Formats: sequence, C-alpha cells, structure tokens
Amino acid sequence: MYNPSSRKAEEFIDHEEIVETLAYAQQNKSNLELIDRILAKARERKGLSHREAAVLLDCDIPEKNEEIYELARQIKQDFYGNRIVMFAPLYLSNYCVNGCLYCPYHMKNKSIARKKLTQEEIAAEVIALQDMGHKRLAIEAGEDPVNNPIEYILESIKTIYSIHHKNGDIRRVNVNIAATTVENYRKLKEAGIGTYILFQETYHKESYEKLHPTGPKHDYAYHTEAMDRAMEGGIDDVGLGVLFGLELYRYEFAGLLMHAEHLEAVHGVGPHTISVPRLRRADDIDPDDFDNGIDDEIFAKIVACIRISVPYTGMIISTRESKQCREKVLGLGVSQISGGSRTSVGGYAEPEPEEENSEQFDVSDKRTLDEIVHWLMEMDYIPSFCTACYREGRTGDRFMVLCKSRQIQNCCHPNALMTLQEYLSDYASPDTQRLGEEMIRKELESIPKEQVRNTVIEKLEKIKMGERDFYF
Ligand code: SF4
Ligand code: SF4
Repeated sequence: MYNPSSRKAEEFIDHEEIVETLAYAQQNKSNLELIDRILAKARERKGLSHREAAVLLDCDIPEKNEEIYELARQIKQDFYGNRIVMFAPLYLSNYCVNGCLYCPYHMKNKSIARKKLTQEEIAAEVIALQDMGHKRLAIEAGEDPVNNPIEYILESIKTIYSIHHKNGDIRRVNVNIAATTVENYRKLKEAGIGTYILFQETYHKESYEKLHPTGPKHDYAYHTEAMDRAMEGGIDDVGLGVLFGLELYRYEFAGLLMHAEHLEAVHGVGPHTISVPRLRRADDIDPDDFDNGIDDEIFAKIVACIRISVPYTGMIISTRESKQCREKVLGLGVSQISGGSRTSVGGYAEPEPEEENSEQFDVSDKRTLDEIVHWLMEMDYIPSFCTACYREGRTGDRFMVLCKSRQIQNCCHPNALMTLQEYLSDYASPDTQRLGEEMIRKELESIPKEQVRNTVIEKLEKIKMGERDFYF
C-alpha cells in the first residue's frame, strides 16, 4: 500500500502506485483542462506531485509542451539565475564486490585494471585538481569491505581537505559510496562531507534484482532505504539519481519523485540534488544490450519536468553527456556540471596509460575545465565555484528555508562572482580571463542592493591582490 511516510522501501516506492500513475498519465496526456490546471499549480513554484508531473511528462500537445519548457526555463532563472556550479569526480578505487550488469567495475570483469589510490596518490590528484581550479569534489569508490572499508574513505576525505596547494583548496567533498549503516553515515558526517550521493539505478524492484544479481547491492530495500539511514546519521544533504536506460524512463521518473516526496514526508527536507545520468559505453558494457535508452529529446523533457516538479532541488549533469546535449539542458534546469573530468581511478595527476584502462564510463565531453568555463561564459552563464552554504552550515532544512524565502539568491550571485574571480586570477587562460572580467563587470550591475554591490567590489579587489575565500 502506497505510503510516502513509511520507512519501508516497497511502501514509499509502491509498484502499484507507479503503475497506476503511468496509466493515469497516459489517459490524460491530451487532457487540456487537466494539463492547464497542473501548469497553473506549477507556476506557483511550489512543485508538483509525482502524478501531476507524470502527466506533464507524457503530455503530447505541442503548445503545452512549449509551455512546459518555457516554465522550466523561468523557474531555473528564478531559483538559480544564470549560475552553474562546477565540480569534478575523483575515483578512489574501482575494487567492487557487486555484480551490477551495467557497470564495468562489477566483480567478474577481469579485463579492467583494478586500482586503489594510496593517500600519497590522492594528495597528488588533489593538487592536480586544485591546479585546474576545482573547489568541489565528488569522491567515488566501488563497494568492497576489504579494499575500500569506511576507514579508507574517511582517511581519504581527511587527506583531501588537508591539501592546500598554492591558492588551492578543496572546500566541499561530496561522497558517492555504496549504501551503508547509520553508524558509518555518522562517521561521514563527522568527517565533514557535503552531500551524500547514491544513485538508485532503477526503482523497479524486479529489474533491480536482475541487474544486481550478486553482492550486497542485490538487496533492494537496503539500497532504497539508504537515504533514510544517511539522514538518521545526521547527513542532511542527500543526492538522488537513476541510471536512465535500465528501465522505462516514465517508471524511473515517477519513482524519483516519490522518493523525493518520501524524504520530505519523513525528514521534512527533500533531496539536495538529483542527478540524471544516462547509460554509457564502458569497458565490457555495451549500451545496446539494454532496451530502454532514451534520446536527447526525451532527456530534455525529463530535465524540464524535474525542474518544474522540485524547484528547490539542484540538478546535476556529468561529462557522460556531450557538449550539445549539455547546452540544451542547462537552460531547462541543470544547475551543476562537472568539468575536465576523469572517470578512471586517478588520472588527473598523470594520464592513465592506454593499456591500464580503469574508467567507469566513456566521457563524452572531454574539454578542459578552462574550455568549459569559457564556453559557459560565452553562453552568458556564470561558472560558480561557490561552496558557501555547506561551510556556513546552511544545509538540510536551513538551506531549504533560505531557498524557499528566495534569500539564497542574495548569497549565490555575489559568491559566484567572487569565486569566479578567484578562478580567473589563479587558473584561467588569458582569453578566459578577459571574458570573465567582462562578465563580472556586467554582472555586478545586477546586484540590486548598493551596499552588497560595494562590498563585493571591495572583495573582488582584495582577491586580485591575493586574498582568498570570501563568501556570504
Ligand atoms: S555500480 Fe557501483 S556497486 Fe555496481 S559494480 Fe559499479 S562500482 Fe560496483
Ligand atoms: S550560496 Fe549556497 S546555494 Fe548558492 S551557490 Fe553557494 S553553496 Fe550553492
């Protein structure tokens, strides 16, 4: 029986409820009156239920679809302005005891190079990432209690935060590791992590069990209830995601929103971010072996409908996607992107030799961080390296309260400009620097309060003189 407040996976992600939702959405995909009512509700910017959102996702009236895209663009602009937050993944280890059928790190794969970074190697990777200009990392590791125990992850986080190379700093470490215990989540919280990210992969229990035939990840309930344990352990920023391509996208979309509703119902705060990865080619993985791939058009519609349904949740897209695809979805709702990424274990300090491939997936967007920063500014987006909320303790419900009162805008914009200035002063190519200085000059004018504007101008000057790390 569907119950968003239940702590049982099969009740808050109730299969029957999803099946009925999909049938309801199909029946109403041309129901103009209902679609107008849902759009009117969405315009209030308070979000939509999974049923309402599913109707918009299926909507087949071209003019209404245009309205959906337009509304997604407006909501994106209202909540996130033209800022895009930058991050990079850092793979610590690809040892894994699971048997996931879509990931080359699965235990039976003998062709992939197995690697685990030592603390010295992590320090070298972090220096290389700092030298690119990154301030925010997402660390990744396979599930392996012997090779990657929680102590290894904690030690690695400590190493990452301890490195201060030239003006570099990693100011926020997000963590993407396997579902674990409340006690381990508590340890991660104490280690000072930002967001705990765990992709559900698929919400369809039967498919989930087939796709995870062996290893601890086979347990659907344990995996699906992980975010509740993370929150119980004190982590209040959690990041959801599914791997589009494994199951029917409409099913996953409803499941994702039900999971968000569940977190809100039980913990009073929804997910901090939602990621939208699509299945990619990798070592022994061929995406053509899976039947549920989605094209760029459906992908864009999913992004727009998520934006409308959960306006306060950041949306992340990785270098799995091409430049063209990223360009399309940035305007529709994506608020964070990775840049200059390596999906191998290590690979930032020294490129990985070809015969030692340890990549989790093929990167589509292979541009450098400087090229991405330049490209974003050409499109009038402000690349932001801001990590202020986490450092100011604005996480979980405190973040949401600020966000809902729209006060967050007064922090994000100045912080984006100040962190961009740091990037320009320390890492940018001359061309990017010129474009960035122009952008900052122009964007300063859009700070409405004179006092704030003057403070930002003063701090920008200080940054140019060598001081660092100002934020609101
Ligand atoms: S998806 Fe994660 S758990 Fe599964 S094989 Fe890959 S690294 Fe291991
Ligand atoms: S001020 Fe907070 S919400 Fe805004 S960009 Fe910085 S960290 Fe993100």
